[in-house]
Amino acid sequence: MKETPKELKIHQNLMSGTMSIDGFLGNDERHFHEIIEADRNELKLLDISTDEIADRLEYFTDKAFESYDGPVIIDKKYKVFYDSFRGKILCPFDHPGVYRKGSITLKNLQNDLEVCWTPLNIHLIREHCFFEGKGSTHRLEPTILSKVLF
Ligand SMILES: [Zn+2]
Repeated sequence: MKETPKELKIHQNLMSGTMSIDGFLGNDERHFHEIIEADRNELKLLDISTDEIADRLEYFTDKAFESYDGPVIIDKKYKVFYDSFRGKILCPFDHPGVYRKGSITLKNLQNDLEVCWTPLNIHLIREHCFFEGKGSTHRLEPTILSKVLF
């Protein structure tokens, strides 16, 4: 596929070793446009929007961040743990913003399903509909998110 210089830059940013050790594509062979397109279609089938998912992730992130140490129970249904790391990370799509490093683990106590995300994930989902490539450390499956977060 022919890429514009901007797309080429994004593609390089998404690959391992450029902006993060693991990168954002995992072992996914698809172009990032195809990854985004496939997830967009899946969201349609699930009848859920990127904003709805991002809002939920943000809600839990903020609540867990306020709690400082140890896991917290939120709304009697979610066990959430915020693991904070030093440092910031940039958006691989060349946005000016910086995002806190850290990971948030949430367990839905009703169905025992668990997901883990980073502050950057929230931005990538909201602004880019990018859930990362299959096999990537922070890949989030829309289907699983829809079962865990709501
Ligand atoms: Zn961005």
